Amino acid sequence: MSIVKLARPEIQGLRPYKAAVQVSNTIRLNANESPISASMSPFRRPLNRYPEIRPNLLQVELAKRFGCQQDELLITRGSSEAIDLLIRVFCQAGIDNLLTPSPSFEMYNHYAVVQGAQHIQVATSADDDFTVDVDALIDACNDNTKLIFVCSPNNPTGTPLPRKDLVALLKARRDKSAVVVDEAYIEFGTDESAINLFSEFPNLLVLRTLSKALGFAGARCGAVAGPADVIAMLDAVQAPYAMATPVVECVEDALQQDGVARAEAAIENIVAERRRLTTAIASLSFVDKVWPSSANFFLMRVNDAEHVMQHCSDRHILLRNFGDKLPGCIRVTVGSRDENEQLLAALNSLQESLS
Ligand SMILES: *Cc1c(COP(=O)(O)O)cnc(C)c1O
Repeated sequence: MSIVKLARPEIQGLRPYKAAVQVSNTIRLNANESPISASMSPFRRPLNRYPEIRPNLLQVELAKRFGCQQDELLITRGSSEAIDLLIRVFCQAGIDNLLTPSPSFEMYNHYAVVQGAQHIQVATSADDDFTVDVDALIDACNDNTKLIFVCSPNNPTGTPLPRKDLVALLKARRDKSAVVVDEAYIEFGTDESAINLFSEFPNLLVLRTLSKALGFAGARCGAVAGPADVIAMLDAVQAPYAMATPVVECVEDALQQDGVARAEAAIENIVAERRRLTTAIASLSFVDKVWPSSANFFLMRVNDAEHVMQHCSDRHILLRNFGDKLPGCIRVTVGSRDENEQLLAALNSLQESLS
């Protein structure tokens, strides 16, 4: 069964906005564009013209890269936009809800609030290494649970969701909920993408982004992959011309062989640095715990998070804490070798000041 019928009724029948058709070698008097192109433009496509409604070449390349069909992929302004689109498409304000484990990425909650959808959070425990209890997730669902977001590896804990748990969730919620696996950090771990389960589960969607492992956070480019009919529905809601010409061309260039090779070398480096940093930091006296991570960051718990944050910020190093949500916990992004050395120096100086 298609999960299109879980979407908001008015969206199920929505047709995409009719944008001006684009045919090469024609005189374009159909889109109120300027006929004048800035001669200094560094881009291949003229900037006085609207971009393609959807960037076709990028779509082909990213579908190949992620291992799905072209019509199973929608390119978005970062995967953040995909989260927003999914919630707007599936959740009727004041009626439907989405469900996530907690703690997890805060954007799910943000866009739930924007749409007026209830957000059901199922707590995981620090004592249990933030393991997701899939039975608890399933039990927390009700008839109006249209979406379940699972981030794997999870932000901010670094914990991956085991494949057998994902499969159990997909089975239990088949025909009932869209299950969205957010794979923003998948390149830093050892798990395969859930995209290879598409043929078995018509309720599975996957989020990917170029912001993390591929090093293109500034370009704002991500994607949502899933059943073609669901992708068509998201497409109808997304703004026409969503991806700007400079973004499209910069990402096209980045996906050339040497760009990808550079990104892959960077991933290897970050994984090695993650191991080095977590080992060194776990041995510090004021660090109570460092959780294992499959991402480009890790979570640690310290005696006095505010003090550690301040000590680092005085040395121009920014870390992330979570207040009462995760008491004592600090999320550390793995940086370059030099940046990591400066972090270790700062933490070592803090240890000396405490003894
Ligand atoms: C960083 C991140 C994203 C991606 O954000 P973009 O909008 O693609 O930059 C998505 N999900 C999670 C969990 C993230 O941490």
